[in-house]
Amino acid sequence: MKTVEIAGAGLSGLAAAVRFAQLGWRVSLHERSADLRMFGAGIWLWESGLKTLKLLGAYEQATARARVIDQWRIADGRGRTLMTRQMVPGDGMLLPPRADLYQALIDQAVALGVEIHTSSVCTGVKPEGILQIEGGIERRADLVIIADGAYSRLRESILCTAWMDFGIEAGIRMMIDHAPGDSPDIITEYWDGPFRLLYNPCTDGQTYIFLSVPVADKRARVLPVDKDAWRARFPAVEGLIGRLTEAGRWDRLVNVRCTKWSEGHVAIIGDAAHAMPPNLGQAANTAFINAMALAQSVNSTGDIPQALQDWEERQRPITNNVQWWSYLYGFVIGRWPAGLLPLRNDFVRFVSKTEWFDEGLNRGARYTPAGYK
Ligand SMILES: Cc1cc2nc3c(=O)[nH]c(=O)nc-3n(C[C@H](O)[C@H](O)[C@H](O)COP(=O)(O)OP(=O)(O)OC[C@H]3O[C@@H](n4cnc5c(N)ncnc54)[C@H](O)[C@@H]3O)c2cc1C
Repeated sequence: MKTVEIAGAGLSGLAAAVRFAQLGWRVSLHERSADLRMFGAGIWLWESGLKTLKLLGAYEQATARARVIDQWRIADGRGRTLMTRQMVPGDGMLLPPRADLYQALIDQAVALGVEIHTSSVCTGVKPEGILQIEGGIERRADLVIIADGAYSRLRESILCTAWMDFGIEAGIRMMIDHAPGDSPDIITEYWDGPFRLLYNPCTDGQTYIFLSVPVADKRARVLPVDKDAWRARFPAVEGLIGRLTEAGRWDRLVNVRCTKWSEGHVAIIGDAAHAMPPNLGQAANTAFINAMALAQSVNSTGDIPQALQDWEERQRPITNNVQWWSYLYGFVIGRWPAGLLPLRNDFVRFVSKTEWFDEGLNRGARYTPAGYK
């Protein structure tokens, strides 16, 4: 039986663990935390992610409470529409709570016999297929997968960080109670200069809100959130701002690129390989398709190092595309020159109607994961 050791039980590590277990591998998953817990609010699941969950047998549980999204809309602070993206069956989106998605993957991993080791802090990897764990433990496997997130420690044990950009935005996520008048199925992203308020219908009772601000603006990223300042910027959603919760934390949004995604018998997936700011809501979806392709590539070969190189060659272009569009989108929000702001609305209205925009922005979302029938 082939073996795989996976470092990191986030969404990427778990998705990979489930897929390898389905293919008959013996899977060990290591998580440094004492228990498996998911931080965050809701998560955008596009077709690529939804198909991955179907393939993994986790779809029903992950999406049981999720709102089916009808439309993604961008508006200015006063509510005037700049862009709409209509969701249709087969090219749509569901928006479950992250915790539901995470639990569905955990349950499926357990059901398939994945060995989950919590409080297991991984310290390094060796290309011959060794995962090193605190306490001097070395675990050998046919394949070792690094899935320890954007600030990956293991990525550096094979020296493959090409670029890490801390970006200029900070973001905060929260869940608020649904109230009469809240849209049940339209995501709206309100822009005011470099400030953004993202409204996401999530479950029947709860709405997921994401706020982002320039990281340099210390007054904008106070806790609790300064509701008066947000009301002044976004009068179209005054009522909703009154319901923002006191809890939360501001996260710095980051981009990561690697010089390579593998060395010998070691592969890197998820945010460790290609973190990106959550502008398109596609980072985890992209991690899913890459994890599925990884399993497919190495499953039927005796030459794992070569299969890993082939895998990277196939998956890099789609990943670069998603990352580039996410960066571009963030540029339009956060780095658009202040003097040209009056032109931004017209620019977005025009560009978002072009085929180039639709195809580029949605290519990752429409990608069919390897193994999906
Ligand atoms: C505000 C925000 C909103 C987002 N919204 C979306 C969205 O709507 N749709 C979408 O597709 N993506 C979204 N993303 C991106 C998505 O959350 C990430 O791409 C995804 O969670 C990355 O999963 P991961 O498993 O690669 O990394 P992580 O979630 O960082 O998981 C890494 C795991 O490894 C563990 N670990 C770390 N170091 C070690 C070690 N040394 N030993 C053992 N374990 C270790 C960590 O504890 C953690 O459990 C969003 C991101 C942000 C910040």
